[in-house]
Amino acid sequence: MKCPYCGSLKDRVVDSRESRDGDSIRRRRQCLSCARRFTSYERTEDIPYMVVKKDGGRERFDRNKILKGLMTACEKRPVGLPQLEKIVDQVEIMVQESPERELESAVIGKILLSELRRLDMVAYLRFASVYLAFEDVREFMTEINDLFKKSDKPCGGKRTKTKSSNAL
Ligand SMILES: [Zn+2]
Repeated sequence: MKCPYCGSLKDRVVDSRESRDGDSIRRRRQCLSCARRFTSYERTEDIPYMVVKKDGGRERFDRNKILKGLMTACEKRPVGLPQLEKIVDQVEIMVQESPERELESAVIGKILLSELRRLDMVAYLRFASVYLAFEDVREFMTEINDLFKKSDKPCGGKRTKTKSSNAL
């Protein structure tokens, strides 16, 4: 670390301690050129990842909020928490890897919808009805019809009919 007095880059750490709340480490250093002591702080990167909403507003990326939404959609459905965690992991990685540290909510929504659709049709429709905030029933029906047209083709996933499959 550059000495603030003489500019030398050579120093040794003489003392190192963590802050009381554990979010930074304070190091006392001694310059090897001028022997003066200075302090450096090391902290973890604490810049939040953001979600860009439709209106351009931004909010903090909240992993738990997404997971909760998925859990609500999958209530009483044969979808396990680990499956949902995996979807959220996928989204989280995308946000973290985006160079701007942010992702549009529409992009996140699309991922969530397509993953849910693979897992469970009922959960998908529940989530879609909330997420896409259909303006009216007709719009929702159009979406459902589109879905069933598409799902006529074999899609690989087994479609199990259970008693609750009509409990939208
Ligand atoms: Zn120095």
